[in-house]
Amino acid sequence: EDFVKKNKIPLLVGAGALTALGLYKILCSKGGRCGKNALGFTEDPKFTENVPLYKEEAILRKKVISNVSYDLVLALRKGENFDGQILVTFDVNNEEFGEEELFIDYQGLGIKDLIINETSVDEGDAFNGQRIKLRRSLLKLGETNTLSVVFKSKYNKDGTGAHHFKDPEDENEYVYTQFEAFHCHRAFPAFDQPDLRAALTLRTLSPEDWNVISNGLEQGLVDPADAADILEGVSKDIIDPYDGHYKAQKYNPTPKIAPYLYAFVAGPYDFIETRESIPGRDEPLLMRLYFRKTLRKDAERIQEYMFDPVVRGIKWYSEFFGFNYPYEKYDQIYCPEFKFGAMENVGTVTFTENLLYRGKELTEADITRLVNVVLHELCHHWFGDLVTMTWWNDLWLNESFATYVSFLCMSKEEELAKQSPNLWVNVNSYKNWGYAEDDLETGHPICKQAPHTDSADDMINGITYGKGCSFLKQLYHLIGYDTFSEATKIYFKRHQWGNTILSDFLKCLDEANEKLPKVTEGIVVSEWASTFLNTRGANTFDASWEIDDLVITQEVSEFSDGLRQQKIDVLFFNDKLEMEVGSVLTSETDKRVRLLPSKPTKYFLLNHGDHAYGKIILSDFTIDFLQKNLSSLPDSLDRALVWRAVQGMVKTRQLKSTIYFDYVVNNIAKEDQSMVTESVLTTAGMLVGAYVPDSKFKDVSSDMFEVLYKQVLIEERNDLKKLFVNALFSFLHNDAHVKQAVAWLEAGHILNSHGNKIDGTDLSANQKHSIVKAIHKKTIFSAEEKQKFLDTVLGEDKSDVATNLRLSCEALLPCAETKEKVWAKITNVDSGLSSYERAAYMSC
Ligand SMILES: [Zn+2]
Repeated sequence: EDFVKKNKIPLLVGAGALTALGLYKILCSKGGRCGKNALGFTEDPKFTENVPLYKEEAILRKKVISNVSYDLVLALRKGENFDGQILVTFDVNNEEFGEEELFIDYQGLGIKDLIINETSVDEGDAFNGQRIKLRRSLLKLGETNTLSVVFKSKYNKDGTGAHHFKDPEDENEYVYTQFEAFHCHRAFPAFDQPDLRAALTLRTLSPEDWNVISNGLEQGLVDPADAADILEGVSKDIIDPYDGHYKAQKYNPTPKIAPYLYAFVAGPYDFIETRESIPGRDEPLLMRLYFRKTLRKDAERIQEYMFDPVVRGIKWYSEFFGFNYPYEKYDQIYCPEFKFGAMENVGTVTFTENLLYRGKELTEADITRLVNVVLHELCHHWFGDLVTMTWWNDLWLNESFATYVSFLCMSKEEELAKQSPNLWVNVNSYKNWGYAEDDLETGHPICKQAPHTDSADDMINGITYGKGCSFLKQLYHLIGYDTFSEATKIYFKRHQWGNTILSDFLKCLDEANEKLPKVTEGIVVSEWASTFLNTRGANTFDASWEIDDLVITQEVSEFSDGLRQQKIDVLFFNDKLEMEVGSVLTSETDKRVRLLPSKPTKYFLLNHGDHAYGKIILSDFTIDFLQKNLSSLPDSLDRALVWRAVQGMVKTRQLKSTIYFDYVVNNIAKEDQSMVTESVLTTAGMLVGAYVPDSKFKDVSSDMFEVLYKQVLIEERNDLKKLFVNALFSFLHNDAHVKQAVAWLEAGHILNSHGNKIDGTDLSANQKHSIVKAIHKKTIFSAEEKQKFLDTVLGEDKSDVATNLRLSCEALLPCAETKEKVWAKITNVDSGLSSYERAAYMSC
């Protein structure tokens, strides 16, 4: 799963998922506990409670149950619900479970026809809305057991379980699933824990105009008239509502995988397909890209970044891991209202439509990010899917590994490296996310207990992705390419199709480190890792000269547990910008270490290469020197580190925000790597609101707007000019500037003094939206004017993006009554808003 990535949509109302059950609740309160409702399904009044699975329950269940497989029939429908029927086969190994305790997870609208080992079971007794009990008296010890049941499930609006979306433009309905961490059982009954791996055999019925894809490759379409084998044993109750008009499909069984990796995607999705040869097989691999019908143009534009990296990635990973791609196909689907960045469902990777960059001209940062997300999900097909964590406390390793190794792949694969020359600048942003969360009281060590499945969701944060990725980057710096690769080779060979815990991974690293020549002497990986992983906080590196020695001091921050041993590189340079790199191991016991450059020098930049996890302080004289010379540092990552350092020093009040903005004003135009420019401007846009004192806010934002506007007029490089245009709107606060932007909006571009259009100033849809939002915030425009601007910009656009812009603009109106209305809507669990609509309201 990719989160930073991550359109971070705040879910204001926790378990808002289980809310559209008005009818159900009324029926229950009338009918009493667990009565049958009008649909003939057994229900439970406690259904609105979201019960997590506890780790102890999962451990016990794993001891008792094995050899699980699912034979699933899904009857997918338009509207709010879908039906299904499942046959679960499993062995019961011992009696460690008590009479009442063994259960299969299912959270749906209701069940019927429950049969356990040929015995019909009263659903009212067995089903509590969250779990189906498997009574001990019905189970056969040491033998194969079966459970079959017909069920009715509900589509959700919060992006989990089976999510339903109706395209406002053409009214088409789209469905997809998101099962990580604990949502598979909200679509169908399953032992919903990662170490109960099982093969899934799937058959589907769906509306005739829908495409349905899943983890297994579909075995060709079947006419209803010839669908006898697909329909064999399927309840008439779930076939009849189609009235003979349906599409029937059967899919190849999946390998034994964790339930959170199952997926189905259904709707009138359009697609592009290709077949490419990959290592280790004769037949080319089928790869398809799916998207909503209304987004074909965007998908075609972007497809080169969706297919080519997969082919290159499969080749690179197969070699690096010593294990060929083990699945039969690779589909990627752009999903409307997707909750995260992307999700690594086996062979059926789902993506947010934000990564389609609708209508936007792609920057280097956009391409780097998109290709990285593609490679991150692909990497999980080994680390995560082929070998899976036993329980959610190791989620951080799953995510950190895919994050770091996907960037490593991009940096080592020749064509991918050429396409994203500044990719480590992107990794630096991830690390920064880690520092930001490590500076908070809520920060925690990378290794953290996950007592239940809800706590897995809490782990999707900057520590898991940013700091975890930093741990692996430092580890790689200590042991090198060959040892890292060898460790993964041992790991995948030893644990293929199984589940592991952290120590299994560390053991492989120790073995590889013993086997190959050492890059850094004296490191026992598992011991070294233990202190890194079990301590809180980000330390800070500072340094000063003591005669010719540079003395590096590791400062322990307020929320940090202590010193860490890391290999840190230092860039030395003098006034003539002659450079030298030195390297030193910091200590766990002594905060000071010394480093002697080969010849006397003046300036230094700590953490050259960004291998260590720690914030850096720039000396006063280095700040002064770089104020005028930053662009002379040849490495874009070094420049990014300087930017991060000055930004960090603003946050910790070691540098005045106004000095930082002077830095931006003096240096931004001289930066020639768009990736760095974009990162600086994005951060500046955030810092201006959060760190500039109120008394100076207007002046600073005004200055920034004017500097950027001027730069738009004179910048020759189109890619940089686009970034300046993009960034301008973060500083659009002053009335006069808003009016200037309105003139720009009305003309569609900027005119020079001769009345001619200035190239590269055409506004994109998103930029127009930013101006309309700025207009809505202001009192200098009347309600009618605001409405007119909004209608003009949106024109005939009836897409979900347009709908969401209308919601944002409504929330931005400076009027207490409107704000109250909006507040009531976003805090009302039953408002029927999807998480995207809620986020649109809150985006002001
Ligand atoms: Zn991931």
